[in-house]
Amino acid sequence: MWFVPHVWINVLRMKCVLITFLTSHFRLNSSVEYVPYQMMLNPMNALQLIQQYDVIADCSDNVPTRYLINDACVAAHKPLVSASALRWEGQLTVYNHNGGPCYRCLFPVPPPVETVTNCADGGVLGIVPGIMGCMQALEVLKIASGMACILLLEF
Ligand SMILES: [Zn+2]
Repeated sequence: MWFVPHVWINVLRMKCVLITFLTSHFRLNSSVEYVPYQMMLNPMNALQLIQQYDVIADCSDNVPTRYLINDACVAAHKPLVSASALRWEGQLTVYNHNGGPCYRCLFPVPPPVETVTNCADGGVLGIVPGIMGCMQALEVLKIASGMACILLLEF
């Protein structure tokens, strides 16, 4: 088993390129195609990117990106599986699925920047993002396979 220190990822390559290389090299799943995007998501490209896929997984670590992904998913009518982690806790929600509420329905106004704690400042137990990522992937697979037991947000 190989472990890739996070510092190497940042120094040697962009994360998306390295992850694509590692997963392809070690044949973690031969039926999955990895498509790295070496660019920043922004209002000019978000809709075009998101329209290409059936289910979107938000793995971002900041509030502006979270709202951008949500808005593009709403415009493209795509379900959004959102996961986040901070300290010892994680949150997982499916938004915009079959006419269900979106992220803005729950949080209409972005919070002031100074009120948001990120992992760099607040810390996160290393295994929490891994657990949340696995649960997020499960929700994506459930949606993609048409299962009825989706983790939905209800008002
Ligand atoms: Zn909404």
